[in-house]
Amino acid sequence: MPGGALRLLADAVVTVDAEHTVHRPGALDIEGSVITWVGPAADAPAPAGAVRDVGGLLMPGMVNTHAHSPMTLLRSAGDGLPLARWLDEVVWPREAHMVPDDAYWGMLLGADEMLRNGITTTCEMYLHNDAVADAIIDSGMRAVITPGIFDLPGAGSAAFWHHLLDQAVSFYERYDGREGRLTAGLGPHSTYVLPEEGLVAVAEAAASLGLLVQIHLAETRAEGEAVRERYGTSAPKLLEGLGLLEGSVLAAHSVWLDNDDLAVLADHDVAVAHCPASNAKLGSGVARVPELLGLGVRVGLGTDGPASADGLELFEGMRLAARFARALAADPAAMTTHQALELATRSGAAALGLDVGVLEPGRQADVVRLELDDGSFTPALNASNLLGHLVWAATSRLVTDVWVGGDQVVAGGISTHIDASRVRSEVQRRARRIAEAAGH
Ligand SMILES: [Zn+2]
Repeated sequence: MPGGALRLLADAVVTVDAEHTVHRPGALDIEGSVITWVGPAADAPAPAGAVRDVGGLLMPGMVNTHAHSPMTLLRSAGDGLPLARWLDEVVWPREAHMVPDDAYWGMLLGADEMLRNGITTTCEMYLHNDAVADAIIDSGMRAVITPGIFDLPGAGSAAFWHHLLDQAVSFYERYDGREGRLTAGLGPHSTYVLPEEGLVAVAEAAASLGLLVQIHLAETRAEGEAVRERYGTSAPKLLEGLGLLEGSVLAAHSVWLDNDDLAVLADHDVAVAHCPASNAKLGSGVARVPELLGLGVRVGLGTDGPASADGLELFEGMRLAARFARALAADPAAMTTHQALELATRSGAAALGLDVGVLEPGRQADVVRLELDDGSFTPALNASNLLGHLVWAATSRLVTDVWVGGDQVVAGGISTHIDASRVRSEVQRRARRIAEAAGH
């Protein structure tokens, strides 16, 4: 648990503040769960407590703005299927056989993987949310949990979403704010598995409780066509008309948006979780991220679930976002290196409304250390060169140590709160049972 005052000294501190300040060498002071001072090591005030010279590079913990991490139990399942068939034929049949303990172990495996890859916050939408939250608490990670709300696929059970909404509100009452690391929201799955009255009910609950709403939006072209056929309008305009965009909303994917849809998101300050690895693997398309950023939309990066972007890491996600943006625009200025780093850190934090994602006083001490003594960081000629290596060459295998709210959750590449070998064997055993029960 976070203790008293701690100073970390490092060869480089990449703050990701508004000016993209890099201190070489740098110092970062933590008191309790909060950063109290950051700057050049030579300018640091007298230390208030322990001093650790950790060397290497310190950066803000990465923020995963969209995930279904317990789907580690389904990792790589259904490869090659389009989204609708992948959900109908592979995902939902297996999820029907999951019990809360499965979700607990699946989430814990995901948390171990994310923490060791430098992700300190995740925004989750899934089932069995008490178990998911318990795994987050046990792992030391930070999370926004938006319990999934949907109708039972094919069952025609109109009241099912109502039951899930009640459960989500109860989850909020019991878990929001726990350990200073959990935030509860609402996760209406999408416009295609919730009827209009369900979307309206979610909007009303979110408004009365002041909760973040996370929803899958405009993920595939087929989804957009189906919404237009059923409602005669686009998914963003449907949600706008139903009042769902009035509060704090995070739209996952947001790939198939026309210019009017982009304006709807910007007008309502809707944040976007850009999931380039998942969108590419499922052949869904590429979100118009430079246009969204140009309109002032808060955009973060998401891994999505580990059955659609199979490794839970964001170094590759950050690079894919920048590469897609530049390739599609045939313009190397379409997304800057700084913007790519911001997507994974400060913009993701802004998308979730959390005080993380930047190494500056007053923010939560969610900090990642990377080894610099590696070919990917050689040569290191100046600060700009270092940022270039961090975005374009570094990988998550260089992450050695991680703190969440001042608590060291990864030390020497190993999660301090998680028995990783037990977690792997639990998931192995449970995933086999679930696949067999689904007849896969
Ligand atoms: Zn998703």
